[in-house]
Amino acid sequence: MAQRDYEGEGITIHWNSDICQHSGICARGLASVFQPKERPWIKIENGTAQEISAVIDQCPSKALAYTLK
Ligand code: SF4
Repeated sequence: MAQRDYEGEGITIHWNSDICQHSGICARGLASVFQPKERPWIKIENGTAQEISAVIDQCPSKALAYTLK
């Protein structure tokens, strides 16, 4: 399993590339943070914990998850 953690202000994003369906819901929902063409593709500093968690809740595959701090 390819899991990565991204540490931000008040939130940690957990990302499992193995189960992403590439639906683009995250990128459309919060383009400032989820930028699939960039490396790293998650710019966690560009969103608030509230914005990020709301979009991650819509991820259909659960490839994205989060922990609030
Ligand atoms: S919303 Fe979830 S499944 Fe869709 S591209 Fe983003 S991480 Fe992948």
